[in-house]
Amino acid sequence: MIPLLDLKRQYAVLGPEIEERVCAVLRSGGYVLGRPVEAFEEAFARYCGTREAIAVNTGTSALHLALLALGIGPGDEVITVPTTFVATVAAILYAGARPVLVDVDPRTLTMDPARIEAAITPRTKAIMPVHFHGRLADMEGILAVARAHGLRVVEDAAQAHGAERGGLRAGAFGDIGCFSFYPGKNLGAAGEGGAVATNDPDLAARVRQLRDWGQSERYVHTMKGFNFRMDAIQGAVLGVKLPHLDGWNAARRRVANAYEAGLADGLVRAAGPFGADHVCHVYALETADRPGLMAALAAAGVGCGIHYPVPVHLQPAYADLGYGAGSFPIAERYATRTLSLPIFPEMTDEEIGRVIEAVNAHVAPEAAPEAKEFAL
Ligand SMILES: *Cc1c(COP(=O)(O)O)cnc(C)c1O
Repeated sequence: MIPLLDLKRQYAVLGPEIEERVCAVLRSGGYVLGRPVEAFEEAFARYCGTREAIAVNTGTSALHLALLALGIGPGDEVITVPTTFVATVAAILYAGARPVLVDVDPRTLTMDPARIEAAITPRTKAIMPVHFHGRLADMEGILAVARAHGLRVVEDAAQAHGAERGGLRAGAFGDIGCFSFYPGKNLGAAGEGGAVATNDPDLAARVRQLRDWGQSERYVHTMKGFNFRMDAIQGAVLGVKLPHLDGWNAARRRVANAYEAGLADGLVRAAGPFGADHVCHVYALETADRPGLMAALAAAGVGCGIHYPVPVHLQPAYADLGYGAGSFPIAERYATRTLSLPIFPEMTDEEIGRVIEAVNAHVAPEAAPEAKEFAL
């Protein structure tokens, strides 16, 4: 069986170093924040190319605190996309603001800057693009709209640590960037974790204060904050892993490019190209026959996933956003057709070849007449 993702292979390489650092934390008696977390924050800010990085307990908390630090709350609107994990939209609701959705660009599956202007109202405060599947959104286009309308930009970079364009990395384009270190992300903790990155010292100070109960000093609560602190063990684990991230991203790109070169045209549409601005968190093709392809992959012992089967606005819990079926045709169509193939840095050539063979064996015979399905 070739799994969608195998975290054990990474641990097999880094295990001894991680165990040494984690045991040092256990022996130290300091289990929350502290030096291991500070050291990771410094290293992660350097990695992102931002002045500061602040570690928190989850990526969702990073998004939530980024909005609060910008002063966004009840009565405000934040523009984002339906093609994302629900956390993006949930964080806007946690801040008390209203999520306003715009459809994605069918070629990149990220926010289409041409659709933003029509969604802006006098209440709009921020734009929250998502670097979906690890591909940087069109930040140049999004920032141009934001500047023209005086809006703040919060990047959901939970899937895109290290994606880079024009000398800037994910999280460094907008006012504030938000990351998740959930174990399956490109940089993953041994549990939950998240961070925000920013060049703005005031925003950084507010996020730091909000993550630790709004304290300006011990037992002086000048803001209504939260307990969103990172554990010292996660700081230690992430500190060991960060120096490997660029190598892992390159290894993911190699898998994606091999898929791109090897998959037959026809009933599937591939997802490339994969340059520096795509860190291949997910490799998702589009197929007109998803159930058939899933059955064929299962029979061939190849794992797969769907990211994500239902766009946020059609999830039952978010029906009250007020968008029905048909509101975002590109997002909705994509959700019915997307299928994610196994991708992780340690995949072998043999495994990559078996995945390609399994997909091609299913799609090749009837391919040609259906190819026009994927005309944009
Ligand atoms: C994973 C993810 C989040 C949430 O991160 P958690 O650490 O799970 O809270 C937010 N947005 C996107 C796009 C994600 O993929």
